[in-house]
Formats: sequence, structure tokens, C-alpha cells
Amino acid sequence: MTTICDTGKDYKLSSPYYAEATTFETKPGCWNYNKVNIIERESKNIIGSYTRNYSNMYRTFHPFKLKNKWFALYSPNYTATRIMSLPDCKDIGGEEPNSFGFCPTDYFVPVLANLQFVHDSGCPRSDGDMRKPPCTCDAGHLTGCPLSVPNPKIMPNGGYDWESCICKESRAAWDEAHFVWSFPERVHRFIAGCIWGDDSSWKIQYLDLSQADKGIIKRDDRFGYIELPSELNLDNAIDLDYDDDYISLKIATQNYYNINGKIQE
Ligand SMILES: [Zn+2]
Ligand SMILES: [Zn+2]
Repeated sequence: MTTICDTGKDYKLSSPYYAEATTFETKPGCWNYNKVNIIERESKNIIGSYTRNYSNMYRTFHPFKLKNKWFALYSPNYTATRIMSLPDCKDIGGEEPNSFGFCPTDYFVPVLANLQFVHDSGCPRSDGDMRKPPCTCDAGHLTGCPLSVPNPKIMPNGGYDWESCICKESRAAWDEAHFVWSFPERVHRFIAGCIWGDDSSWKIQYLDLSQADKGIIKRDDRFGYIELPSELNLDNAIDLDYDDDYISLKIATQNYYNINGKIQE
């Protein structure tokens, strides 16, 4: 059986690499392994491969960009998470296989996107000081536009009649000059998986990728013992809001009740 593992998608562009896993038989009575090819999306070329010693690939190949270089989280030994540099497909470090290790089934490295407003140099608030007189960077509408002041065209519902605007092009250029996206390093990563004997559901943990380029990852359960809903992938279960250096999360988790409302122990 061949499965495509195409995770790590950016919301603006897909990562340039994905994996294709094909199961193969090992010894009789033993579970199958997977031969995993790493494929460069554009050329469709196979640029590397590895063996995963488990029958299910899950979503265990996840490319991400850090410090302007591409890497991937992957799991050749099913009890551990490793880091590979791309496109050379070299293993650069990570967790050591361990019978009490965290067996990954899914990875998610969210894109951090920050939209900043850039003031004109003459604007009183160009230094970002909100106590200064109001911002003078208003795009305004061209003279003759039905939305220009002092009598902008208002719809019966009280809103502006944006359809009538004749300066959409100049306003788009203004937006582009004043709203600038920045993409901070994607050092926050989430992992779902299980520890042996606790494999009836996938648990969500956190992984610190700030030193992933040196082959170092740190995993912890800072959110407590939380289960990933069985129908969701990690990227559907985690909603991340980013504002300057503050990150807030909404995490969908699986909880258990009986009809009387009590959580089952
Ligand atoms: Zn301004
Ligand atoms: Zn206009």
C-alpha cells in the first residue's frame, strides 16, 4: 500500500517537499515496514529515502522552514521523532528510539504571520507612540469618488457603498505600502502520538524547535494530558492566534462523559 504524506503546508504556499510511503513485508508474523521516498514537489524527483519500522506511516513527515533553511520532522523509528535537513535528506539529530518514547502519529508546525501597519514618515505616530496626535496616513478617496469626504455615499443599511469606489487601484497600492506581513520563525510545533500501552487515543504535546537546525528538539506536555479528537488531524485541532510576541491557542480535545454528565475515570 502506498500513501502520500503531504503535511507542513503553508497557508500561502505548499512546502516544496512531500513523502510517499509504501509498505513492505518483513519477516512472517512481524508487522510491515514502510519505505518512504522524499519527493521534491516541482520536479517530482525522489531526493532521498528512509525506512520506517512500522506498518502505518500516519502523518509522520512534516517539512518546515527555520532560519531560511528547510528541515523535516520524521519518524524512521516509530518510538522517536528525528530531524532531517532538506534537500540533502540528512539526519541531523532528534530523539533516540526508546521503548517508553512518544510514538508520533502527526506533526504540526504552524505558520506565524504578523501583519504590521507602517506609518508614513511624516505621520505623528510614525514611531508607534499611541499618545501622539492621530495618524495622518489615511488613504482617503480621490476627488470625484462617491466615497470621498465630506459626503460619502452611504447605503440604506448605513454602510459605505464600496462598489461605487473609483479608486480601488490606488487604495490597493496604499494597502500594500502600509500593511506589511512578517513571518517569524516557526519554532513552535505540536505533536500527536502515544506512549506504549496508552495507544487507544493520540495525545497532544508541545515541541520546541528553536534549536532544530542544530538537531535539538525538546518535547513536553505543558498542556496536560489532552487527547486529539479521533476524527481530526493536528492542524484542524489547533487554532493559533499570533500578535507580536503573544500567542494564544485554541485546542480541540476529546473528553469523555456518560449520560449523567460525569467524566468517566
Ligand atoms: Zn500614520
Ligand atoms: Zn474611492
